[in-house]
Amino acid sequence: MSVTAIVPAAGLGRRVGGNIPKQFRLLSGMPILTRTLLNLTTSGLIDRLIVVVPPGTEDWCQKEIIASYSLPSIIEIVPGGAERQESVFLGLQRAPAGTELVVIHDAVRPFVSSDLLRRTTEAARKFRAAVAAVPAVETVKVVESGFIRKTPSRDSIWIAQTPQTFERDLIEEGVRRAVADGVHGTDDAMLVERLGVRVRVVLSYPENIKITTMEDLERAEQILSRWEDAGCGSASVTTSIPSSPDAL
Ligand code: C5P
Repeated sequence: MSVTAIVPAAGLGRRVGGNIPKQFRLLSGMPILTRTLLNLTTSGLIDRLIVVVPPGTEDWCQKEIIASYSLPSIIEIVPGGAERQESVFLGLQRAPAGTELVVIHDAVRPFVSSDLLRRTTEAARKFRAAVAAVPAVETVKVVESGFIRKTPSRDSIWIAQTPQTFERDLIEEGVRRAVADGVHGTDDAMLVERLGVRVRVVLSYPENIKITTMEDLERAEQILSRWEDAGCGSASVTTSIPSSPDAL
């Protein structure tokens, strides 16, 4: 079954500080985006990888993110859009004919393991749509006008991450309908949920962080050095946690 990965990397978010978009910042000497692409490609689970970058940075990315680190030729660079959803849409349009599964993974989550990628891909094969997530450790409040409106039971709250993996037709239809309805999803699963499709949750691990702030970057350095001390590249890390929420 042919698998295409789409890596939205076109954000200009500078909350992490400085003038460089966070996905291009160095993490222990290597750009965050390069680390992410390396982990995805070395998994052996992906046939084609479309990386969606800020318009105008395509040549720079080809040289500094891909060629400098001898990343494999399955990677194609395309210019992105003003919002993440638009970048995913532009990436989807470049998925080759024959793509059956689409894996969407944030550029700024460099700690994706082959094991997590494999489990979400297997779950998507079985259930059509699957999302990496972790159970909430804090109590979540629904707040309106500065006051708590309700407190959902923590047992049912999970924090969605990426990879999020879908049958190609499903995610394409989800994006098409969201555009038609003027909906801006904060993740990709939301677009598929809107179609009435049940999305399977795959248990992830807290280290699969999304680097957004300076504190995240510091945490990422710590995670990386811990994993390197443990003698495993992040791509080869496997987790000792159960692989399905049913096993909890
Ligand atoms: O902004 P946020 O942290 O939600 O971004 C998540 C991912 O989406 C990042 O990898 C970012 O580069 C990407 N993105 C994108 N196009 C945009 C905005 C964000 O590809 N216009």
